[in-house]
Amino acid sequence: MTIPCTLIPGDGIGPDITDATIRILDAARAPFTWDRQLAGMAAVHAHGNPMPDATLDSIKHTHLALKGPLETPVGEGFRSVNVALRKTFDLYANVRPARTILRGGRFDRVDIVLIRENTEGLYAGLEHYIKIGEDDKAAAESIALITRLGSERVIRYAFEYAMRHGRKKVTLVHKANILKFSQGLFRSVGQQIAREFDGRVSYDERIVDACAMQLVIKPEQFDVIVTTNLFGDILSDLVSGLVGGLGLAPGANIGKHAAIFEAVHGTAPDIAGQGIANPSALVFAACLMLEHVGDTDRARRIHEAVVTTLRAGTHLTRDLGGSASTGQFADAVIARLLA
Ligand code: NAD
Repeated sequence: MTIPCTLIPGDGIGPDITDATIRILDAARAPFTWDRQLAGMAAVHAHGNPMPDATLDSIKHTHLALKGPLETPVGEGFRSVNVALRKTFDLYANVRPARTILRGGRFDRVDIVLIRENTEGLYAGLEHYIKIGEDDKAAAESIALITRLGSERVIRYAFEYAMRHGRKKVTLVHKANILKFSQGLFRSVGQQIAREFDGRVSYDERIVDACAMQLVIKPEQFDVIVTTNLFGDILSDLVSGLVGGLGLAPGANIGKHAAIFEAVHGTAPDIAGQGIANPSALVFAACLMLEHVGDTDRARRIHEAVVTTLRAGTHLTRDLGGSASTGQFADAVIARLLA
């Protein structure tokens, strides 16, 4: 059986890390057939539009995309192509796993999956200036919109994710002690859904500021975390930092009708075109995509091959202190896969 998937190589280092990722997936006989499409700056150069209809139509058809990093052109009417894609496909859950890979750092036992609400909260885009007297911009207001439906679907996704992945606990992170209405609603929906999973997944809660401190002091106490958009944005980078930074961090954006998988890092313009980027984050994103389609054994096999290559330390790319090219790193991973 083959699974059609939209492939967006992206900008900057995107094409290099995408080629390496596809070679690794092919070596593992992953079941995808690729529909290559453009977005970001590459699409502006080819079609004069950073988000062409052909790309959107492809994702509508495949419901699945693997995406390299995108550069959003200035003045094209988009704040961010990535955000526009999330909005177009209503990708409500952003999933960011963070697991210790290179041992010997400050944190050796981190294994956290942070699930962030991706469509509402303070990032709902409800902002305006308020005129006072002659000053058109005397004040500015940004509204943190929390809905029952938006909270329910992301919190339920977090519990179902925990069940599917054999995880024990969901921690809901909030600030309901101060934001009693918006954060209070998110928290009360969490408590309600937690009761449905009673006996299968345990539940606890943290206030966001205390959570930030505990993540740094004792991150191994956390398992799955679910939180609102702004807190999730900040804490997901924090947990990436615990395990070696954005270079190894994959992300998934999940909706009811589509899912887009990506590396968390950007286009790395400083090393673009040099063939020295580390493809690990995009390969890990592809593993999340394999898990998403139920191909968990293959996902585990590829993940293991990348982790053992990284831990062996003989074919590291420059960002990790080595001198291997993107292609040499991919070859080393493929050699382990085929061994
Ligand atoms: P960046 O992540 O591109 O780069 C930060 C630093 O990390 C650079 O020194 C870069 O060389 C290094 N780096 C990043 N990924 C690497 C990899 N795989 N291998 C080796 N080194 C790597 O962040 P930035 O410089 O803030 O952003 C550059 C561009 O990327 C901007 O246009 C930004 O909007 C875009 N961006 C896109 C996404 C996305 O598409 N998801 C995410 C973040 C930034």
